[in-house]
Amino acid sequence: MKRREFIKTSSKGLALSTLGLSGSSFLASCTHKNFSNKNISAIIPLPIQVIIDDVGWWSGKDETVNQGPYRTGINRNHVVADYQAVIDLGKALGIRPQAATILCEWDRKNILKDVPHSNWMGKNWDNSKWVGPWLEEAADLIKSNQEHFELSLHGLAHEWWEDGKVSRAEWAEEMSGIMRPKEIVEQHLDAFGEILNQNNLGSLFPKSFIPTNFCHTFGVSEGRNISMAQILKSRGFTYINTDFQWRFHGIENVQHGLFGVDSGVLTVDRGHDLLDWNIIGKIPSGKIEGATCGMHWANILHPNPEQNSEIVDGWVKLLSPYNNKLETMLAKNSLEFQKQLAHHVTTKVEVDSNEIKFDFNETNKLGTIVTNNEFFIKVLSANKLSFSSESIDIVTVSTKKTEKGTIYKLALKKGNVAKASITMKA
Ligand SMILES: [Zn+2]
Repeated sequence: MKRREFIKTSSKGLALSTLGLSGSSFLASCTHKNFSNKNISAIIPLPIQVIIDDVGWWSGKDETVNQGPYRTGINRNHVVADYQAVIDLGKALGIRPQAATILCEWDRKNILKDVPHSNWMGKNWDNSKWVGPWLEEAADLIKSNQEHFELSLHGLAHEWWEDGKVSRAEWAEEMSGIMRPKEIVEQHLDAFGEILNQNNLGSLFPKSFIPTNFCHTFGVSEGRNISMAQILKSRGFTYINTDFQWRFHGIENVQHGLFGVDSGVLTVDRGHDLLDWNIIGKIPSGKIEGATCGMHWANILHPNPEQNSEIVDGWVKLLSPYNNKLETMLAKNSLEFQKQLAHHVTTKVEVDSNEIKFDFNETNKLGTIVTNNEFFIKVLSANKLSFSSESIDIVTVSTKKTEKGTIYKLALKKGNVAKASITMKA
């Protein structure tokens, strides 16, 4: 069975209960921040972050029938233009997509032969086939377009190999969610950094993690004395994004529905992707339901790389409207995403005659990087408004005319306060 078919059939039973969970928390968060007087609504919009998995393979071939990797499951090799597609999507939308990166086929020195369980050839690991000028070209492209390409940790070769047999997945065991032994996890993280160094990308060592196959435990897994989040935190990571409905364990410990804080690391629910992992050349359609627009590399590409832009354009058309709606916004980058999501879920907002009032009591309790103090609100009004405040900094105000009135988007910076308010003048 193909892996996504398996996901689809096996996750059906789970879908109702877990959808219910994230669905109700989303509704609850909307009702307490949607207070409106007759003419004015104020909301802390849900940020949407774009994440593209499995970037980094040079072959696209699924070799799982021979105990090899899934890769991207397409019938062509990857080319530098496929990296350009990620950057083009970012540029067109003014965002920094997260590229969840796989690095084994960037290994110039075959260091993976000495990294246990990292690859399908074991001690005989030989990547010479994929060492060529394209590595430098792609690295240069990534480095010179950092505003539109966030290199996130996905893995070395995505899975786990033992005595030549593949199993899922690299960072945690599939069914139990038990993290791989700490020493091995550390070795894989070291190797990820080392391969970045080999390619002069060492300064881009990531701060964000997308577990391969979404196999992950929130908190400490059975038989271990440290969590994946703790290991990552000690290396500077602030944020994990994974599917809470797939091979996710510890959901009972997730504090805020759409996200939890695990040893100070924000862990966010990816929700459902619109396309299966190996679909290529398809103009996307559908609705983004949660905080993440997740996809796989093949999903923004075309079988003919010269036509990649046709698919990228399809995503731009699908995603742009989320920036213009009152209820949502596209996050400019993953840091903005983390802060905005924290405020969206935990900060209370109400419109009380000519005032917008904020209550940060819950937000202030988060105690992680997400308590950083910048966030956005959107205000819908039929009348022209001006805004002033003595308790919170209004950094910028932009406007968008719609059929229902004008949507104001305010960038705010809060101090160390529990409450604040903004005065509106018509
Ligand atoms: Zn993946």
